[in-house]
Amino acid sequence: MSSDAFWQLEQQLKQLHLGAILDQYQAQAEEAVRANWSYETYLASLIERESERRTGNRRRRRIKEARFPVLKELANFDFEALPSLNKQRVLALAEGHYLQRAEPVLMVGNPGLGKTHLAIGLGLAACRQGQRVRFYTTTGLVNELHQAQDVYQLPRFLDRALRTQLVILDEFGYVPFSTTGAQLLFQFCSALHERVSLIITTNLPFGDWVQVLGDERLTSGLLDCVTFRSHILEFRGESYRFRQQREGNTTP
Ligand code: ADP
Ligand code: MG
Repeated sequence: MSSDAFWQLEQQLKQLHLGAILDQYQAQAEEAVRANWSYETYLASLIERESERRTGNRRRRRIKEARFPVLKELANFDFEALPSLNKQRVLALAEGHYLQRAEPVLMVGNPGLGKTHLAIGLGLAACRQGQRVRFYTTTGLVNELHQAQDVYQLPRFLDRALRTQLVILDEFGYVPFSTTGAQLLFQFCSALHERVSLIITTNLPFGDWVQVLGDERLTSGLLDCVTFRSHILEFRGESYRFRQQREGNTTP
């Protein structure tokens, strides 16, 4: 091929955003000659590299867009430290079928038992399956809902949430809500109901939700939304870090 033809090929690959093919086509052509590949094998090998790169990019993008406060992997979770939790159930959730069915997951239990860790771990697993995920602390979400409402952008905010497959609401019930805050949160959860999965982590047993939401009817409405076809994981025991410290184990 003439140098003009190479130049044109590379321009077109750039225009078409075929970066992996651009990077690889020459090396793969040499390999094709060496190994006596058919034209189809050469083409298939380039397409496979492009496709792999895109999958990797998509995963990285999904993880970035999810705005996890830290990255915590399921693989680093010590299930033996928490015998009350069924490891197989968590690993089955990580396969992601609950997302297709828009089912909620509730993680209930005392602080320090790994609820946030597992919520992020499930979130990362979803991102790696190409799903759109968004992590919020509950207070952070309520603030954003307030802000959106102040500028008449609430419908837009809800539409955007409906374009995700998973919303994580961390630390529900640590801080009581204002009346409007509780209403906005209810509006948010009912908009997502049966359409987008929610993972909620909380230290509050269901019977105490009314204390932070302030209104009986709204509380039962919210509970209906988030418990309907939900997966409930209970966390019982003593704070993981506290135990680690007492046992003189310095790994986090
Ligand atoms: P919670 O959200 O229940 O308050 P976190 O998920 O914030 O608890 O856990 C507190 C810290 O302890 C985090 O750094 C977390 O990674 C770690 N941790 C808790 N439980 C475990 C566990 N079983 N295995 C590994 N790390 C854990
Ligand atoms: Mg937490």
